[in-house]
Amino acid sequence: MDIAVIGSNMVDLITYTSTMPKAGETLEAPDFALGCGGKGANQAVAAAKLGANVMMVSKVGEDLFAENTIRNLQQFGVDTQHVTVARGTSSGVAPIFVDDQSQNRILIIKGANARLTPADIDAAAEELKACRLLVLQLEIPLPTVYHAITFARQHGIQVILNPAPAVAGLDIDYACQCDFFMPNETELEILTGMPVSSDDEVLRAGQMLLGRGLKNLIITLGSRGSVWMQGDAVYRVEPVPVKAVDTSGAGDAFIGCFAHFLIQHGDIPRAMQSASAFAACSVTGRGTQRSYPDADAFHRFLT
Ligand code: ADP
Repeated sequence: MDIAVIGSNMVDLITYTSTMPKAGETLEAPDFALGCGGKGANQAVAAAKLGANVMMVSKVGEDLFAENTIRNLQQFGVDTQHVTVARGTSSGVAPIFVDDQSQNRILIIKGANARLTPADIDAAAEELKACRLLVLQLEIPLPTVYHAITFARQHGIQVILNPAPAVAGLDIDYACQCDFFMPNETELEILTGMPVSSDDEVLRAGQMLLGRGLKNLIITLGSRGSVWMQGDAVYRVEPVPVKAVDTSGAGDAFIGCFAHFLIQHGDIPRAMQSASAFAACSVTGRGTQRSYPDADAFHRFLT
């Protein structure tokens, strides 16, 4: 295996409706769709679609969604040996309501994701030791994230930490042990308590975080591109201009693709350029995982 994603999986339950029911009211909605998501699973699928050998350590619930989630990961070639069932719990689900103006109302039930423990990492230790890169987010319990970082350090495995969603209590000492810390601008704002509306503000907030001892900070800035900061050096990647249709999952696309190319050639600016193009391609299609191009489609997008 090249990459291990230790993280979440979610089932998106998407209801399309022009009117939301009031308390006590029952309404008919015109359309419904079921999608596979979760930041961990999205990032694993993005890398796997590009041809990376990816394994996931994740928890599904004891319900109908579990099999669907595992089948979906396997369909993209993600190794699911360590995707296990948390008995007596539901899978992670996200009921999403989309109105006529494409506005989303989202509830997240963590379900089994809240039951991924350090013991699950220990159970996967043999396979994890053979990986070159661990990719982590914050949709699983923090002690599990910290345990994974410590494990990676002990075994000389590189780590990407995507601090999403932003968690106020994140211990920055663990973030400093990671090779790459990759927030989006909203997460940067929450983590630093500083404004991030202009480029200067983003760099100032970034410098503040770096000053606490981070090795490499890569900030994604939506349609404004991305920036890599290391010490006093700043490297900017302009966005690839596209007509955006649906930007959900763009950050996960960026990280999954970056992870893949990082271990392919280790050239950080080149990996960011690729990730920027891959994420731009993903926003031209609807959905998250289904909007990620595979290696052939990505090649066509680039040429
Ligand atoms: P998140 O999904 O976490 O909010 P961002 O919105 O920062 O992540 O997007 C991640 C990356 O996707 C950006 O750094 C950029 O490279 C790319 N991207 C996002 N939106 C667009 C867009 N409208 N046009 C081109 N690229 C985009």
